[in-house]
Amino acid sequence: MTKTKILATVGPSTNKPDKIKALCNVGVDCFRVNTAYGNRNEYSYIYDVVRESTDAPIVFDLKGPEVRLNGEKSKNLVVGSEFEVGFNKDYSFYFNHDFYNQISVGDRVYIDNGEIETEVVEKKIDSVILESLGEGVVYDGKGINFPDLEVETPTFTERDRSLIKHGLELGVDYYALSFTRNKQDIVKLKSMLNNESGVIAKIENKRGLENFKEIVDIVDCVMVARGDLGIEVSLEKVPLAQKKMIKISNKHGVPVITATEVLESMIEKPTPTRAEVSDAANAILDGTDAIMLSGETSIGKYPVKSVRMIKKISKEIEPAIKKEINGVRSKKIPESISKAVYRLCQDMDIDKVVALSKTGYTSRMISRFRIKQPIITVTPYHSVFRKQKIVYGVQTIQKNYLNQKNPILYVAGELKKKGYIDREDTVLFTSTSKKPLDQEGDNIIEIHKINELKLNKTNRKYNRHDPR
Ligand code: PGA
Ligand code: MN
Repeated sequence: MTKTKILATVGPSTNKPDKIKALCNVGVDCFRVNTAYGNRNEYSYIYDVVRESTDAPIVFDLKGPEVRLNGEKSKNLVVGSEFEVGFNKDYSFYFNHDFYNQISVGDRVYIDNGEIETEVVEKKIDSVILESLGEGVVYDGKGINFPDLEVETPTFTERDRSLIKHGLELGVDYYALSFTRNKQDIVKLKSMLNNESGVIAKIENKRGLENFKEIVDIVDCVMVARGDLGIEVSLEKVPLAQKKMIKISNKHGVPVITATEVLESMIEKPTPTRAEVSDAANAILDGTDAIMLSGETSIGKYPVKSVRMIKKISKEIEPAIKKEINGVRSKKIPESISKAVYRLCQDMDIDKVVALSKTGYTSRMISRFRIKQPIITVTPYHSVFRKQKIVYGVQTIQKNYLNQKNPILYVAGELKKKGYIDREDTVLFTSTSKKPLDQEGDNIIEIHKINELKLNKTNRKYNRHDPR
């Protein structure tokens, strides 16, 4: 069993029940719906298909402040082609945001992760004429970047707002916000969600990078969105930006996803390049919690093989991870307890760590140390159960232990029944709550040999301080 989590983007190659099942069977942990493409009916369908096959969480990836191209037909561009793009739906191609006043003749406009370079040659009443400097096909949903200017756009389009409502009706687990620029963007997103929804900040431009620390403080997860980042801050700056974001996220116990072009060549071919394998391996060594596949699983010819490849790389690389989280000093209980768990897991022959957790926070805190033992989160809540599945090294089960007289004994019994732990295991159980030191809250570490616990007796008779 590997610890690095895998997100798969669902698209034309995989939006069928048998394909989703196949992806689950090879170990996909989470599914992403990229709302740049497709419509509500398609998203509902994917949602239902995924839910029928698996407990994996579902991410709605919202485009937010990101500029995208919309239009019904596709268009072929060659060098010198002129191409009109409007600022409203009356045009056959139009932008999703209105930034007419911010763009001038001579500005460069990149389409599709920089694949097609164009330049504004004319401004009309409510549109611009772009001249192509390269060639390629443009179609609905393609991303736009402006290498010469910083375009200011609102946090959401109307479409995003309606997609959030739709997601809430369905019960989507995570909302990813493209081009998250600052804390305020996340605050706005959270104000539209409910307590059960998780938020992923996609960092894909300069502003997101500059404000990374304030963003990481209030999100449930971070995505290193290398596709757009490569254009927005330039390609050679991406590797260090990735390492920096992963390091800070690990320190805060915030799961981090490394995304885009991980096994890009597998869109067309059954095997990846050496460079791609090395890139995925290095992301895991850096401390990424998860790897996201985009084109590989959405439009690629080899979605299952791509997932298998990530699994193989994870299996080989994970045992070599060495992680020291420096500068972790905190007066919060879960943070200090997690450090103690980490030390105990190094010093003692512990087989598994079990965290009884209402929010998943304790497990995230422990996971950041990349201990070799599997971490099993036991939570009473279904939404926490699903959301935890993107955290490195964490398995999760839902069990309501809250009304048990001895929750640890109860959980041990349930885990043993389900085969998560064996008779022979030595298990570290922990339970903490985020409360400050002077307030009462869970604050436990217990280490037990499972075969010494009296699991068949009723809870009431058990007293863990009994001499045995
Ligand atoms: P996207 O984001 O796939 O929605 O464009 C990821 C990235 O830019 O890397
Ligand atoms: Mn992007």
